[in-house]
Amino acid sequence: MWRWYVARLALRDLLRGARLRCPACGHGRLFQRGLRMRATCPYCWVRFERAPGESLGAAYVTSGLTALVIYGGYFALDALLDIEIGILLGVWICAVMALNLLFFRLARALWVVIAYWGGGVYADQDYEREYAAPHRHGTQDEQRL
Ligand SMILES: [Zn+2]
Repeated sequence: MWRWYVARLALRDLLRGARLRCPACGHGRLFQRGLRMRATCPYCWVRFERAPGESLGAAYVTSGLTALVIYGGYFALDALLDIEIGILLGVWICAVMALNLLFFRLARALWVVIAYWGGGVYADQDYEREYAAPHRHGTQDEQRL
């Protein structure tokens, strides 16, 4: 019984990540614009990334997703079409570069979900101070100086 409940919660979190939403509340968008990720959720105030380089794990997610598509596509094209191996490799090398860009946001979002499962995504006590003084205008401490 509890296994289904846990699996349902895990699936819910993964779907929230796939929709590029906060894994904790499901409402806040993970990305502001383009490839820039928000520091915190505007709804539940959890912090998505605590330290620089923490998102390095997203590279593993990107590699995994890209490998799934590349291997599947390579063998499918090889079996269905009679294409020269050099052309096939050229196509897939270009595809790897394109897929890495395409999967960037999804991989970062899924990595935030994984961090959320590990307890690394939670609300900070000092979030309101950061929210009151957005980063582009400096923190309150910087404004007092
Ligand atoms: Zn949230």
